[in-house]
Amino acid sequence: MHASNQQDIKSANRAAILEQIRRSAPISRQQIAANLQLSPSTVTMAVQELIARGLVEETGPGVSSGGRPPVLLNLKSGSRYIISVDVSSIFGQRIFQAAVLDLTGHLVASVKHSRELSSGEEMTEAIFDIIDRLIEESGVGLEKALAIGLSLPGLIDSTAGMVIFTGIGICGLPLGELLQERYGLPALLYNSEDVAALGEYYFGAGKGASSLLYFFAGNGVGAGIVLDGKIFPCTRISAAEIGHMTILPDGPPCHCGSRGCLTRLISSDVILDAVRQRCAGQKVASLEDVLQAARSGQKDCLDVIQRCAEWVGIAISNTIHLINPQVIIFDGELFGNDDFFLKLVKEAVSRHSFQYYLPEVQMYRSTLGREAGLKGIGILAIDQVFQS
Ligand SMILES: [Zn+2]
Repeated sequence: MHASNQQDIKSANRAAILEQIRRSAPISRQQIAANLQLSPSTVTMAVQELIARGLVEETGPGVSSGGRPPVLLNLKSGSRYIISVDVSSIFGQRIFQAAVLDLTGHLVASVKHSRELSSGEEMTEAIFDIIDRLIEESGVGLEKALAIGLSLPGLIDSTAGMVIFTGIGICGLPLGELLQERYGLPALLYNSEDVAALGEYYFGAGKGASSLLYFFAGNGVGAGIVLDGKIFPCTRISAAEIGHMTILPDGPPCHCGSRGCLTRLISSDVILDAVRQRCAGQKVASLEDVLQAARSGQKDCLDVIQRCAEWVGIAISNTIHLINPQVIIFDGELFGNDDFFLKLVKEAVSRHSFQYYLPEVQMYRSTLGREAGLKGIGILAIDQVFQS
């Protein structure tokens, strides 16, 4: 066999073994060999190398099935980390959150700040600032970090590490390269909703679902799909742009060039404008104010909220007919702190869906919030490190 082929097989085996340990730890060498259909000696050699690299450690003996109890393997906690950053927005303010994750995807430390910004340079500076602050405040040295993962709203080219387009007019920003240059670490960029969907799949209400739709509504609207544990589609640019699904063909124009897109109908600023127009006396500063007024039966607010729920219901129903997800997770300010809005959405989904689909679909509000994105991008960054 050609030497470079042998090398490829060796590193592919090593990545697969590490992946098994990450997902199923504590696990024995024998079990890994059986799961991956590899020879015991291949597993033993690869594990030896992973221990030497400080990524894996042996823990106490497992349960014996007759002979000597097998030694179990774990990822070495506290040895290496991933830096994960999530950018979101509320009313023009960009919220930057950064976290240190261990190799199992658990959050070790996090920091948060908000900024107003209008250019790619300001965005880059704000991301550098939050990472610097995270490193300083967490006490985890940069030398222990393996990679940086960044979750951003908008169209992201993950392969090129490039921001293609964000709602605040930032286009063609090579953030992956800029992060790599500054920190000397591999950097991975992904769309926020895609990685939030993955975070919900691994750690949230959609844990282990064969198909999962994540839907976000707040300052903007977005979605992500996870099928068989992977973001769909596995192409360069994300999909699931539910925000630009046409709901009202004659509706208001959207920045995408179409009209009546969901995002133009239910984004937080649109809802606040609608409430202010209908009811000059109503004091509303946030979506939570509108939801609170609707909960207590204030007619104008309730009308606006019910109309939004109807539109979300139509979009979700269209999506159910297309991909029939096992679980749908709802997140964002529009879903508030209780199930009030979700209940209205479920009623609308029920009105617009082919009834046979409905018993199959489970719908929940996210319990993770922004942590879903931080963890989702962290998991992808860990995967990338393990594969390389
Ligand atoms: Zn649009």
